[in-house]
Parts: sequence; C-alpha cells; structure tokens
Amino acid sequence: MEITCDIVMDLVDVYTNDIASEDTKNAVKEHLKTCTDCRRYYDGYKKSLESEQKKKIIVTEKSPGLNEDIISESMSELSKRLRTRRTIRNITSGVAIAVSLAVLIKEFFEADHD
Ligand SMILES: [Zn+2]
Repeated sequence: MEITCDIVMDLVDVYTNDIASEDTKNAVKEHLKTCTDCRRYYDGYKKSLESEQKKKIIVTEKSPGLNEDIISESMSELSKRLRTRRTIRNITSGVAIAVSLAVLIKEFFEADHD
C-alpha cells in the first residue's frame, strides 16, 4: 500500500510505540525504506521518545519498564500526601482553638475563685 509522508508522520507515534496494526506497520516500514525525510523524522522521534523515557525514570526514580501507570500512581501518591498535609493543618488549627478555649475557661474559673 502506498502512503504519503503526511500519513507516515501521523502514524509515527503508533508505529514507534508498537501499537499499530500489522498493515499500518508494514506500510510505514515500506515507506521508511524509500523516504529519507520520513526516516529522519522517525529517527528523531524515536530518540526524543527514548530521552523522554529516561527523563521519566529519573523523575520517578523507578525502573525499569516505566509507563503511564507509574506516573499516575505517583501523582495520586502526591495528591494523597497533599491531602494528608491539609488534614494535619486542620487538626493543628483545631488544637490551637481547643487550647485557646481551655486557656479562656481556665482564666474564667481562676478569676471566679479569686
Ligand atoms: Zn516520506
């Protein structure tokens, strides 16, 4: 099947991630054999993808086979931590209110006794 450079560039993503159908893969492969422009584009895309993945590994400090699951997992971990921190802050201000109430009550009774 003959496909144009535009089609190949559209398909480079699915082709590189190996999620294209056999027909698509073959068509892209055939085109890459004959078209220097697309091959250069494909090589550049692959390289940027690889360095992107390396970056992700450094960011999450998790390896190997890093994928989106791990990213979203660490994102939800992060938001869980943020939620916890917010809860602690709420408790802290609750305690502060309780302490100042206790002080007020204590002062009230002490004043009463004097
Ligand atoms: Zn081409």
